[in-house]
Amino acid sequence: MSNNDATNTAKQPTNFIHQVIEQDLQQGLEKVVTRFPPEPNGYLHIGHAKSICVNFGTANKYSGECNLRFDDTNPSKEEQEFVDAIKDDVRWLGFNWAGEVRYASDYFDTFYSWAQHLIREGNAYVCDLSPEEASEYRGWATTPGKDSPFRSRTVEENLDLLERMKTGEFEEGSRVLRAKIDMASPNMNLRDPILYRIRKATHHQTGNTWSIYPSYDFAHGQEDAIEGVTHSICTLEFADHQPLYEWFLANLPVPSTPRQYEFGRLNINYTVTSKRKLKQLVDENHVSGWDDPRLPTIQGMRRRGYTADAVRNFCDSLAVSKTDGVVDMAQFEFFIREDLNDNAARAMCVLNPLKLVITNFPEGEVETLSAPVHPQKEMGTRELPFTRELYIDRNDYNEDSTLSRKKFKKLVPGDFMRLRGAYVIKATDLVKDATGEITEVHAELIPGTVGENPPEGMKPRGVMHWVSATEGKQAVVRVYDRLFNVESPDKGEGNFLDNINPDSYSVIENCWIEPGLVDAAPETGFQFEREGYFVADRYEHSAQTPVFNKTIGLRDTWKK
Ligand code: ATP
Ligand code: MG
Repeated sequence: MSNNDATNTAKQPTNFIHQVIEQDLQQGLEKVVTRFPPEPNGYLHIGHAKSICVNFGTANKYSGECNLRFDDTNPSKEEQEFVDAIKDDVRWLGFNWAGEVRYASDYFDTFYSWAQHLIREGNAYVCDLSPEEASEYRGWATTPGKDSPFRSRTVEENLDLLERMKTGEFEEGSRVLRAKIDMASPNMNLRDPILYRIRKATHHQTGNTWSIYPSYDFAHGQEDAIEGVTHSICTLEFADHQPLYEWFLANLPVPSTPRQYEFGRLNINYTVTSKRKLKQLVDENHVSGWDDPRLPTIQGMRRRGYTADAVRNFCDSLAVSKTDGVVDMAQFEFFIREDLNDNAARAMCVLNPLKLVITNFPEGEVETLSAPVHPQKEMGTRELPFTRELYIDRNDYNEDSTLSRKKFKKLVPGDFMRLRGAYVIKATDLVKDATGEITEVHAELIPGTVGENPPEGMKPRGVMHWVSATEGKQAVVRVYDRLFNVESPDKGEGNFLDNINPDSYSVIENCWIEPGLVDAAPETGFQFEREGYFVADRYEHSAQTPVFNKTIGLRDTWKK
């Protein structure tokens, strides 16, 4: 068990950030303000969902506010499509950001004036070292760096050069603006870090106004300060940046002083949670898009039929701690199953149809039976039309009548089975085609057995699902399995793509569903009895062409 694992659902997981906040509130803090700051360069994944739950959840818990801020300081990689999807994801998870969406680019003018401020205070300079030279001057973790020869430029010269960088006079890579801190610092982030780079790219918010763009470090803490963020929660890889974060706050005329707290990233086995790798899977067509139901993206999970409640419950069950951890996929799926078991309507779908003819039921007649939508919850009833011709699953029949009741709790010639929500039947006969394949099973129903026990000696072997062959509807069901065959697809030798499961996707074209299911709204989840949980596809399901995606099986299949 890693640190990120839920201990159990009843106990509150540990959360060091809540402890910090409770102390701050005791010491007079008036309002907690957090932010979720994605870079709009890809779609969000389950790791981001945790960050969203931590940031928005913390604000909600303490009646504070959480901002949604796009960290759009890197123009070449960012796209409107990602901005829109991220907003959709945050709302879907059930959170509301405070006020309007914010963009780091809204503050570009302020950042520029703060860069000038640093120059005037002797705390920043324009450096003309080439990237190769600069990296040599930086030294190594164990050896100090050397001062840049441009470190002693005058304030006037620096201000002039920065202005000309801004207006596009110089080539990309020819100059940068750097903070003047300490080239011998044991923390590499303090060795005169870069504040601005020349980038001649069109920005999705600011167009071609700027030819320079701030670095993450020069932007992030200042954005927090401008927005009055009190607790700036990020992941552990930023721990080394904290001294720099604080240096800027101490050396700039910022309106507030946020504090940064780092927590462990969430990783889940059998999948990847890196935007770069997810992008590669999408760009190289290993999956059908960012919302492919096999991906751990929020859009993918949603399309798969995971519910927002389940994703949130899972994230909230995890400790917020100072170590990274890998959580078992089985643990995540426990929350998906738990939520669907409680809330999904029950329905019947035959995935592998075999015709069953009830020889003592009149042709053309329809008997309307009814069944509860949910076995425990008050969710009403649904109508099940019963007819002479039905479909059952091929796997629920075996022509070998000697199979013992213990071994095979399904239909065999001469024995009894219950049709779910309907009659007890007895198989009497079968029809085969020229190739020897069974094409029809014949059976007789035992009158008076709907919702009633059958007479002595007619005890059914088990219960099986069915759909009327004449009243039911045809549907397409898409089945998904794990995308990777190994526990840590991106660890070890070789490319993570080599670990893709070639059988992670299949389509079953000829399924039969209860007629009521064609009216299911897209994204409605169901338990198809005995088969698992399925969802009406968000985009492709319609009354004409019902399309369901398999969300998850009824039982955990990860255990070896
Ligand atoms: P990736 O590593 O997948 O590219 P990122 O950190 O670059 O992700 P951002 O858009 O910068 O992506 O992330 C927005 C926020 O989500 C950041 O605060 C980041 O720390 C947090 N975050 C990203 N991945 C995870 C994760 N696996 N677990 C928890 N938080 C995460
Ligand atoms: Mg990042």
